[in-house]
Amino acid sequence: MNQLRRATCGELTSADEGSAALLKGWVNTTRDHGGLIFIDLRDRFGLTQVVVDPRSAPAAAEVAASLRSEDVIAAQGLVRRRPAGTENRKLATGEIEIAAESIDVLNRSKTPPFPIHDDSDVDEGLRLRYRYLDLRRPHLQRSIALRHRAVKAVRDYLDSRGFLEIETPMLIKQTPEGARDFLVPSRLHAGAFYALPQSPQLFKQLLMVGGFHRYFQIARCFRDEDTRADRQPEFTQIDLEMTFPTQEDVIEIMEGMLAHMFEAALGAKVATPFPRLSHAEALRRFGSDKPDLRFAMELHDVGPAFTGTEFKIFADALSRGNAILALAETGGASRSRRDMDALAALATTFGAKGLAWISLAPDGPKSSLPKSALTPQLVDSLKAQTKAQEGDAIYLLADERSLAQAIAGKLRLHIADERGMRDPKQFAFCWVLDFPLFERDEESQGLQPAHHPFTAPAPGSEALSGDPLQLRAQHYDVVLNGMELGSGSIRIHDPALQRKIFTLLGYSDDDVERKFGFLLEAFEYGAPPHGGIALGVDRIILLMAGGESIREVIAFPKNQRFQDLMINAPTPVEPAALKELHVRTDIPPPRT
Ligand code: ASP
Repeated sequence: MNQLRRATCGELTSADEGSAALLKGWVNTTRDHGGLIFIDLRDRFGLTQVVVDPRSAPAAAEVAASLRSEDVIAAQGLVRRRPAGTENRKLATGEIEIAAESIDVLNRSKTPPFPIHDDSDVDEGLRLRYRYLDLRRPHLQRSIALRHRAVKAVRDYLDSRGFLEIETPMLIKQTPEGARDFLVPSRLHAGAFYALPQSPQLFKQLLMVGGFHRYFQIARCFRDEDTRADRQPEFTQIDLEMTFPTQEDVIEIMEGMLAHMFEAALGAKVATPFPRLSHAEALRRFGSDKPDLRFAMELHDVGPAFTGTEFKIFADALSRGNAILALAETGGASRSRRDMDALAALATTFGAKGLAWISLAPDGPKSSLPKSALTPQLVDSLKAQTKAQEGDAIYLLADERSLAQAIAGKLRLHIADERGMRDPKQFAFCWVLDFPLFERDEESQGLQPAHHPFTAPAPGSEALSGDPLQLRAQHYDVVLNGMELGSGSIRIHDPALQRKIFTLLGYSDDDVERKFGFLLEAFEYGAPPHGGIALGVDRIILLMAGGESIREVIAFPKNQRFQDLMINAPTPVEPAALKELHVRTDIPPPRT
């Protein structure tokens, strides 16, 4: 008697021919072919075909005839080769089938609200409501497994580089990462609240003061931001911190980690070191501090070519000190005038006042510029600067420099999308360095940190003298395919310097004591120089998977309005629960 082999639905091959196997899984599909019943049995490892012959296994056939998709069964029988010509080369198990001797129903399924056996388009609300069924579908099975492999690779790599994985608390107080906090009322301390961490920032710095040398955590972070297309109120970061690093040390570890992660999880080779750009250079050349380097199409400052132009709008722009930026599209001359108008209309949605274009058609340039302004010298000089040739198009934008850069940056991405130049299978990493230490807060007009207030000034900026907006920081961002994967910095470890930064940012002494007194105190006890970085796991997996939304790489995401449609959260709570928490609200509970 053959020993019974317990197998997954993805592992049996012709090498197992003749063995007796027991498989458990979900009924993917069933078919009745001339009396024989075929069941495709599924689990996360694959599909195996089970064949039930009513002549040899009448009891099994009776059960099989009652099966419906998503029933859970155990099937037992002999592994045999499929008849010649009926093999399925797309399946790892496609050479064999199980000749069923018995079928047991372990549980029945209602008809699912959408098909499980394929990735057909289904309303996302329905998918989120029945997420446990959505998770069974091939696409999510793949991306969640990919996420596991990627995170495991991170753990392995960081472990090999001397990092310890350490958990930091969830019930804490405000972390200044620039978003709103989620608050948790304390029952034991009436009127007091915890905040959920926006990041483990302060704790990881304290771990360095605590002598742990190198720390990391796959850390859940919470940020109560306004709902935006692809945001989640809770997300995961690879968070790390090192003692005594230079910026170069952090960069080297990150490049090694990312290369290992992409290789181990995806089999993709990532070339290191990554290209580096300064913050100013990224804006100047690509119109973004997270440039997509999969393609060139750089921005050009063509203001000087328009000196003395007849085109009044550009002449005025120059006289006001604004910039004129150009972008050349290879093959752009094939666009119709209507197409050009559509592009100009799009540019206005990005904030442009208009978009001028020159089409370098074979029968001579055509343009939205007035004829008198389109001199041969102008065309020659624009061609020389942008390297545009016959058949290409040149787009021109005039505005205050940073605005013009931002608009041109968006246009660049749009055109690249249209032309299929953003291949999801290509991975173009880069570092953006030399960030400013502070930015102007548009609302309050006060200073705000470009990263966070714990970022150390760059060498030369430590004295914090002169125009604060000109100060540079030891802050670095790693970018992939136009998405910021993460930010980090060398931190301040000198309590006096940290106090000075807080003061510049407008914190009162009282505020500083209340919010960060513990940190400043810790810095008085031999705090070592330290620095680190945090990378968004959801984004990395999204780029690895080539997907469209981070909801595709999170097992149980919230929808775009930050609701969980499956468990129905958030929901009002009983008045008694509020009372116990010392919370009174005069807002009537929403109707559910
Ligand atoms: N705490 C920062 C963040 O979450 C990352 C860092 O500076 O290490 O963006």
